[in-house]
Amino acid sequence: MTAAEVRIADLLAEPWRGRHPAPLVATEGGRPVVMHRFPDGPTRRLVIAGVHGSERSGVEVAERLIALLEEAPCQGTDTLVIANLFPDNTAIGLREGDTPTNRNFPPQGRLLDGDGLDALGRPVLAENRALLAVIAAFRPDRIASIHATVFPERAGIFADPHVDADGRLDRVATAADAALALDLARHAAARGARVPGNTLNGADTSLWSGDVADGVSLGSWGPCPVRGPGGRPSIGVITVEIDGLVRSIDADAPPDRTQELNAFAYALSERFLPLPPLPVME
Ligand SMILES: [Zn+2]
Repeated sequence: MTAAEVRIADLLAEPWRGRHPAPLVATEGGRPVVMHRFPDGPTRRLVIAGVHGSERSGVEVAERLIALLEEAPCQGTDTLVIANLFPDNTAIGLREGDTPTNRNFPPQGRLLDGDGLDALGRPVLAENRALLAVIAAFRPDRIASIHATVFPERAGIFADPHVDADGRLDRVATAADAALALDLARHAAARGARVPGNTLNGADTSLWSGDVADGVSLGSWGPCPVRGPGGRPSIGVITVEIDGLVRSIDADAPPDRTQELNAFAYALSERFLPLPPLPVME
């Protein structure tokens, strides 16, 4: 492990609640990546947002989820939230730099090597290295990654299939995550969120409809077990895609936007955090 990975493992071994005073990592721009933790049970859930710096509505949903957790603990779940993973990009509304932030992970079924390169040989960005160290130390069974989209028809809540490193589908875990994504979408929709990408009034789907650029995403790296020393079981990855990038304060109708962003936060707090662990196939 690198010194930074050891430091992150030490942070996660400490007992703490709410915002950790130490940054997870400091960015090139000198901004702290902040983490919040709510240790209210054995099931470990990680929630991240701000992977794409232009998707500020997603960061707001994560901040609203933190506010909910500060008011009322989710019994049964140890929740870690990183609400703004790339704060340098979020500060200027930049989606990402030269390296695609969500296609910057090791090959499926592998951990980060000593050379620190992603599946296409690009350096893994410091923020993603910190995220990988959090995943290694915290060992979440599921991750929710909150994004936003400028394509209204693609908004929804989705789940990536579980596969092994040879590409074999794990049907049990995939079906469990698909059901969870649809349950989340129904709850968010009942509270006023737009989730047309799930086509809930017809042949409902938990699969995202967008195109995928080259590289391995969190959603293809996570739901694949890593065998051997330092390995881990497959991790379910739920991707939330909010319709529109704007925060409530920047919206044309701030109360309506607040209600919609709250709908996603409530769905996550009520249906993602208290649920039992993912079934593990051997
Ligand atoms: Zn995104």
